[in-house]
Order: sequence, then C-alpha cells, then structure tokens
Amino acid sequence: MGRQKKFLLLWGLIFGVALAFSLRGYAGFFDELELSLEKQIGRSGYESIIAEYQVVRLSPEEEERLQNIFDRLVAACGRKNELEFSLTVVEDKTVNAFALPAGYIFVHTGLLAYVESDGELAGVLAHEIAHVDRKHSMSAIKRQLGMALLFQLFFSDASEEITKIGNLALNLTQLGYGREAEYEADRYGVYFMEKAGYSRNEILNFWRRLVAQTGGGEDPVILQLFSTHPPTSERIKKIEALPTPAL
Ligand SMILES: [Zn+2]
Repeated sequence: MGRQKKFLLLWGLIFGVALAFSLRGYAGFFDELELSLEKQIGRSGYESIIAEYQVVRLSPEEEERLQNIFDRLVAACGRKNELEFSLTVVEDKTVNAFALPAGYIFVHTGLLAYVESDGELAGVLAHEIAHVDRKHSMSAIKRQLGMALLFQLFFSDASEEITKIGNLALNLTQLGYGREAEYEADRYGVYFMEKAGYSRNEILNFWRRLVAQTGGGEDPVILQLFSTHPPTSERIKKIEALPTPAL
C-alpha cells in the first residue's frame, strides 16, 4: 500500500469515527430534549386534571395496597428509570383509567369499585403503563404538531404553549391512540402484569365480564373504557392468542 493510500485510509477512519460519535451525540441530545418535553407536557396535563377532578384520598391500607400493585407493574416496564410514574385516584363513577405522557396514571373510583381482584386492577393499570412505556401519547403529539414545532416551543420556553400541548395530550387520551396502539398496549400490558406476578387470566376475566354485562357496551357508566378502544371482543381474542411469554 502506498503512503498516500495509507494516509487517506487513516483520515477516512478518523472521519468515520468522528461522524459516528457526533451522530450518537446528536441522537442523545434530541432524546434528552424529547424526554424533558414529555415531562413538561405530562406535568401540565396532570395539573389540569387535578384542578378539574376531585382527587380521592384512600385509607392508608387501601393506598398501600394500590401503590404496591402499581410499583410492581412499573418495575416491570422499560422506562422505569427515566420516568417517575405516579398513580392518582379521581372521583368518577365511570369504569376507566388513563395515562398522560411521562407516567401520570389516573384511575376512576368507578374502576376501583368494579374490579374483583388485585390482578384485574393490575391488568388495567398495566395497559395504561404500557401506553406510557411505548410513548403512544408523545408519538401522537409529534404527529399532530411536528417535532420541529415542539422543539421550537421548548427553546422559546413558552409555558402557555406547553399548557396547550398538555391539554392536547388530555384530548388524545380521551380520543384513544388508535387501534394498533391499543393492541400494542394490551400486549405489553400482559407482559408487564405477568412479569409483576399476575396471571393474564385476570385481565381476560375483567374484559369478559364487561362484555357480558354490557352486551353492546351501552351502559354509560361502563361505556367510557370501551369508547376509546377497539371492540372488546377483538381485544380478548388477541390477548388469548398471545404467546407465553407475551413478548
Ligand atoms: Zn388504551
């Protein structure tokens, strides 16, 4: 190999390594930025919810029981180290639970009254944790606004804009994330609940009971959990068809 060729090869190598490092650096930088944005948006949505709903203080025993279930599920999910997941109980008779970006999970008192076991509750909570873990809400926000606009807002430090996006996140939560995201949350939810020590039969029992009791899903108290999701019978079939383990 000639001197010149060696020289070129060396420079090529240095350039390649430098490029790889800078790309990795940029990716890390944008990931950090996105995470920080997610936390701000989640926090803002959380504040809107607690201003609007009545937050319920459970008895210490009940609180501990709930927190224990929740902690076990969070420990099973992939984003446990980068987010601080929290669980808030709100007064509402409908059978529902929902999640905001960055791990703010809410349950209605109606759901707590409806579940027949810790495992059933774990199954519903695991589904909501899965929405956060798979970043469904943030992906939907990015699709709606575009990442460039989001970053622009972030750098301009426009807290009013963050509040608006927080509200957008809330709306998305109420509209649902779409069929595929729901199936994915079911799949990951089953994975998390099993990792936490609960049987997938628990969530299947929960869904089957809901279907049996509501028929077409006309009961307004129960309707809410159906309305934003694909048909429950389809979800049951998909969960039944999951391999063991689910992922
Ligand atoms: Zn869902």
